[in-house]
Amino acid sequence: MNHKTAIIIGAGPAGLTAAEQLLKHTDIKPLILEADSMVGGLSKTLHYKNNRMDIGGHRFFSKSDWVMQWWMEKLAPEFSLEGVRLHDPEKEDSVFMFRDRSSRIFHNNHFFDYPVRLSWSTIRNFGFIKSVSILLSYIYSRLFPLPSEENLENFFINRFGKNLYETFFKDYTEKVWGVKCTEISSSWGKSRIKNLSISKAILNALFLFFRTKRNMNQKEVETSLISKFIYPKFGPGQLWEQVASDIIAGGGEIHYNTCAVKLNQHENNVTEVLAKNNHTNELFTFHADYVISTMPMVDLVRAMNAPDVIQEIADGLVYRDFVVVGLLVDKVRVDGKAKKIKDNWIYIQESSVKLGRLQIFNNWSPYLVGDSDKYWLGLEYFCNENDAFWSMTDSEIIDFAISELHKIKMIDKADVEDSTMYRIPKAYPAYFGSYSRLKTIQDYTDAYANLFLIGRNGMHKYNNQDHSMLSAKVAVENIVNKLSSKSNIWSVNPESSYHESKAE
Ligand SMILES: Cc1cc2nc3c(=O)[nH]c(=O)nc-3n(C[C@H](O)[C@H](O)[C@H](O)COP(=O)(O)OP(=O)(O)OC[C@H]3O[C@@H](n4cnc5c(N)ncnc54)[C@H](O)[C@@H]3O)c2cc1C
Repeated sequence: MNHKTAIIIGAGPAGLTAAEQLLKHTDIKPLILEADSMVGGLSKTLHYKNNRMDIGGHRFFSKSDWVMQWWMEKLAPEFSLEGVRLHDPEKEDSVFMFRDRSSRIFHNNHFFDYPVRLSWSTIRNFGFIKSVSILLSYIYSRLFPLPSEENLENFFINRFGKNLYETFFKDYTEKVWGVKCTEISSSWGKSRIKNLSISKAILNALFLFFRTKRNMNQKEVETSLISKFIYPKFGPGQLWEQVASDIIAGGGEIHYNTCAVKLNQHENNVTEVLAKNNHTNELFTFHADYVISTMPMVDLVRAMNAPDVIQEIADGLVYRDFVVVGLLVDKVRVDGKAKKIKDNWIYIQESSVKLGRLQIFNNWSPYLVGDSDKYWLGLEYFCNENDAFWSMTDSEIIDFAISELHKIKMIDKADVEDSTMYRIPKAYPAYFGSYSRLKTIQDYTDAYANLFLIGRNGMHKYNNQDHSMLSAKVAVENIVNKLSSKSNIWSVNPESSYHESKAE
């Protein structure tokens, strides 16, 4: 039988979910082109000697039941929802561990709980006068909210007050994006933390206190506040590697080191995808009945040889890039003294260092670390591809990172036993630049009947894995149902239940 073929560009969560859904619901053959030598995209797990590194630390949590079930069908859950232990990570490998979130903000040489809590330690760290001024500025912003919430600064001030915004949100957000909060559209805040407020954070802290230990039911909790999540024993890449091998076993194909460079079109269909082998530069042509793309929109538009106006908008899309430095240390220090810490990650809200966030991989899963007596740390830097930081040599970046962690007294230089680093381009699609004109690109690509844009950079949405997966699920449903409109893919919203978004 002559099967139709769907060319899927990218083997991240979106592309792999699309392939899995095609195999499950159709007789269309998924053929994935992946530019990298491994699967998982931004959710891959990097290997360094006996240690594993998660890019950014991936919490697996979704308000979509479909996503939660899908994940736990691939790797067995450690606990039942009633809290009964079903699988033991010490004895089994294909396991989702249940984890408690622990994160803090390091600011002005003090550690603050994150989400911020109204506690004695918070008041002690701030001091009495600063605490009162934060409270008054919060009350003021609730009584007299700024009329316009178009930019992120006003969005934060209306929710937290000017004083708390300037203390905890401004520097970190500007480190992440490299521009002032006044230049960022509030749609970023609305998509990531739209319902977060001081009152919600306090209520959540109270609610947490009464919640049973293993209960994953956090649907009512603002996503940025969720306190429990599941996590593959060997990091997120373990899940996506498992999915990839299921796809191969089911008859799909994955071509590694193969970068899609050109999409040939006939009338309103894409008929072929040309791809280049990254090692040999050899070009291959793949016939396409359908094309599902997760590649960055800017590259897709270039590969389609789009009209100038579309290319101009695509070229104006902005991305933020990311460098992570892995350090193996024999102790972590607080104010210079060796101390055990239980945080998954720590936000570094200190303008004296460029460091944005510190991951403690041991606390995500002890199985990420080869030697359990050591700490395996990830120092995260936000930057722009080819800026001065990105362009430093690997060893210069590592030395810089070590000296920054030494400066804030969380390690001593002599504690470092091993180190590595990775550059991650296009880690964050930004909601500024030509983002406000994205709909023009969307209309252009949607007009190709057999072309489906899904995923994070594929749709230029600052999303989590669940959104990428749901966009893949809806795209495959549209193929099955021969639906010509693609608006339901663009309106996928994992914050509401999957069925609500489907109805839109
Ligand atoms: C620092 C950080 C922290 C995060 N934390 C979380 C979290 O806690 N929880 C969570 O759920 N999500 C988190 N995410 C988001 C998550 O990583 C993404 O939502 C998810 O990986 C997006 O999947 P995707 O398949 O859409 O895209 P990607 O993961 O970007 O995958 C796209 C794939 O396409 C490939 N590709 C690109 N261009 C081409 C081409 N021309 N030809 C062939 N292949 C190509 C790439 O190599 C890549 O493998 C985080 C992301 C970052 C950066």
